Amino acid sequence: MNKSTKPSVKKMSSKGGSARKSYSRKHPAVKSSQKAESKTATAGKPVLKSAFKSASRPARTAKKLPAKSQSEAARPWTAAEVYEAFSRFRKANPEPKGELEHLNPYTLLVAVVLSAQATDAGVNKATRALFAVADTPQKMLALGEERLRDYIKTIGLYRTKAKNVIALSQKLIADFDGEVPRTRAGIESLPGAGRKTANVVLNMAFSEHTMAVDTHVFRVGNRTGLAPGKTPLDVELGLERVIPSEFMLHAHHWLILHGRYTCLARSPRCEVCLINDLCRWPEKTV
Ligand code: SF4
Repeated sequence: MNKSTKPSVKKMSSKGGSARKSYSRKHPAVKSSQKAESKTATAGKPVLKSAFKSASRPARTAKKLPAKSQSEAARPWTAAEVYEAFSRFRKANPEPKGELEHLNPYTLLVAVVLSAQATDAGVNKATRALFAVADTPQKMLALGEERLRDYIKTIGLYRTKAKNVIALSQKLIADFDGEVPRTRAGIESLPGAGRKTANVVLNMAFSEHTMAVDTHVFRVGNRTGLAPGKTPLDVELGLERVIPSEFMLHAHHWLILHGRYTCLARSPRCEVCLINDLCRWPEKTV
């Protein structure tokens, strides 16, 4: 889609709402979309399922929305609205970058494996010293599991992760000539690497148009109504379906950064949100 053919979008009216909001209520649009996608949702490996439970669990205190709000929240985004939203993200941040530090595809892969249920900042703190001594599978094997554990002991689940990093390094050497494979199947065959890892590596190392769904992307996809879904795979497939190809290289980072810094889980900053007029969340605060 180029500028001359881009769909037009009307400015939508903003809604009022209460001050403190939490994304614990299921988005009204989820119900209608989850039925159609429930079969595909089981096709991929579940990615950190527990990390997403709280985002889709109905709140104990959830009150019923008025019928009008429910129907507005469930109204799918038009192509013009999606184009408009991503045009704004692009204008605000033309070259978004991931926050996981790495030196090459291998160190990116290791960093993503270490980042499961950990913060990027916490992983970076440990990997700066680790990657200075082990930035290839061969060097990682030479370092050995015990010394690797020492480098990453500040990261949650570090014992299991150290085992996986050693095992995936062995497999890279045995099956892939020591290189990170460029295919989803190849990456997912590595110990500790699932669908989300494959999506991040394919996107960041090899510029593929993949959509990694972490807790932030999952929340933003649901809350905005852009791609409601009950599982990360639902949201991933929904986002891939609606986002124009010209935005897909950076869409993953725009959505992560939006969720991390603006559409916060407990107190979304709707008043400074770039897409607050397009967002379908019935409880947005503007
Ligand atoms: S208006 Fe923006 S910050 Fe608020 S809920 Fe919607 S996307 Fe999130």
